[in-house]
Amino acid sequence: MSNFFSSWLWLSRFRSSSLNHSFHRALHSITTATPHKNAPTSSNFFNSHRTNNPWTNWSIPLALALSAGSLSLQPHSDPSFSDSLDSDISGVSIGGKGSTQYVVKGSQKEFPQELLEELKIICKDNISLDYDERYFHGKPQNSFHKAVNIPDVIVYPRSEEEVSKIVKLCNIHKIPIVPYGGATSIEGHTLSPNGGVCIDMASMQKVKALHVDDMDVVVDPGIGWMELNEYLEPFGLFFPLDPGPGASIGGMCATRCSGSLAVRYGTMRDNVISLKVVLANGDIVKTASRARKSAAGYDLTRLMIGSEGTLGVITEVTLRLQKIPQCSVVAMCNFPSVKDAADVAIATMMSGIQVSRVELLDEVQIKAINIANGKNFPECPTLMFEFIGTEAYAREQTQIVRKIVSEHNGSDFVFAEEPEAKKELWKIRKEALWACFAMAPNMEAMISDVCVPLSHLADIISRSKKELDASSLVCDCSCW
Ligand SMILES: Cc1cc2nc3c(=O)[nH]c(=O)nc-3n(C[C@H](O)[C@H](O)[C@H](O)COP(=O)(O)OP(=O)(O)OC[C@H]3O[C@@H](n4cnc5c(N)ncnc54)[C@H](O)[C@@H]3O)c2cc1C
Repeated sequence: MSNFFSSWLWLSRFRSSSLNHSFHRALHSITTATPHKNAPTSSNFFNSHRTNNPWTNWSIPLALALSAGSLSLQPHSDPSFSDSLDSDISGVSIGGKGSTQYVVKGSQKEFPQELLEELKIICKDNISLDYDERYFHGKPQNSFHKAVNIPDVIVYPRSEEEVSKIVKLCNIHKIPIVPYGGATSIEGHTLSPNGGVCIDMASMQKVKALHVDDMDVVVDPGIGWMELNEYLEPFGLFFPLDPGPGASIGGMCATRCSGSLAVRYGTMRDNVISLKVVLANGDIVKTASRARKSAAGYDLTRLMIGSEGTLGVITEVTLRLQKIPQCSVVAMCNFPSVKDAADVAIATMMSGIQVSRVELLDEVQIKAINIANGKNFPECPTLMFEFIGTEAYAREQTQIVRKIVSEHNGSDFVFAEEPEAKKELWKIRKEALWACFAMAPNMEAMISDVCVPLSHLADIISRSKKELDASSLVCDCSCW
């Protein structure tokens, strides 16, 4: 793995509280065809764009510019769209210095009544015009991307055929569509800058076929990676990508996501065998067969992976699975500086040890974790490792890394082998974003990522931390 990801979380004085995923899922179940009394008129409607996956392409200068820009953050109330549009659009600066919110203009179109009636026939009760629900779907959480519009309608298709009919109609009426999975993406991916139809895949969550001998599974796009792994556990199998808690398999394909195990198993690109996709005209295509070794024709699967809903709506996914390792060991250790910790991560990778996870958490992140979870971890830069394999192999790797750590000013090397202790450690790590709200309850979060070659890791962290320490922002950093 030649790249390392560094995730930055800025906490700034607050606009709206963060809704967690369970609340989000609860909202999904509230569907009504009655317009809300506060529903905006078409004159409230504005616009914007599509983004790329931050985990794969953010650049360092942009992250630094944003950190500088965030110094001028103003406290906000949570205004209605009409209030915020007038004041914000006039003097808008798009990203970069002086801007803490990313706004891109779009266009506005009256939603055709005829289309609405046709959608109601297809979706029956699974359609919503409720203002709060549309607002929730249109407004990204923990993101500096500003929602300047919300979807006109939300539909919850139950089958590929329904998706196909919906997309075909929207194409005929030239109305934009935004597929919607777990809404855990953080760079405004699910914004609806031109209104239109939000296609929420929450009603398509089935496991359609499990082939234990072939180590693959065929699933609906709306199923979450966490639910899938619960289903797979009794079969001794698991799916190795773990992005945000609540992310759906369809959204993970669309963002070409990674996860903490990417260092060992690669990204979504490496773990999807085949897809079924509804194209813009409503046609359904299957991108490949289940056979693992096939190079015939264009690689349509990889064309769709990472296309962020712009090339089609993913309606079925065949995933490559892994065997749950016989043994795993989770280790943690502390360092006087982030640079020391980064050097150990590099030295470990260079030693040829195939760690399954290595994560660096800075002292701010550890402090937040302590507060949120009632823990007492030393509040200093910390590395977390996971080693897997046979018992003997996992332990041997643990001892080699322990030696590397001691050679780089590391201390307090501890490790856990009990399943519950390991599960808890990774859960705490995965929920670190929400832990930050326990540390700074009246602030809102802005997350961003940089991706650099391994050899640049220590430098980018040191430089960025220097700038951030000089700012008024509360900022934590974690890398993997
Ligand atoms: C705490 C936290 C940790 C995270 N960690 C990671 C990480 O380690 N690695 C990483 O890569 N990301 C990470 N993420 C980001 C996020 O979880 C991933 O980008 C994830 O893949 C998004 O999946 P989703 O189902 O939430 O997609 P959504 O946010 O719902 O949608 C994302 C994009 O996919 C499109 N889309 C959704 N479903 C479909 C479909 N069926 N067909 C076509 N297009 C579709 C949407 O239109 C949108 O463009 C993290 C987020 C959080 C909050």
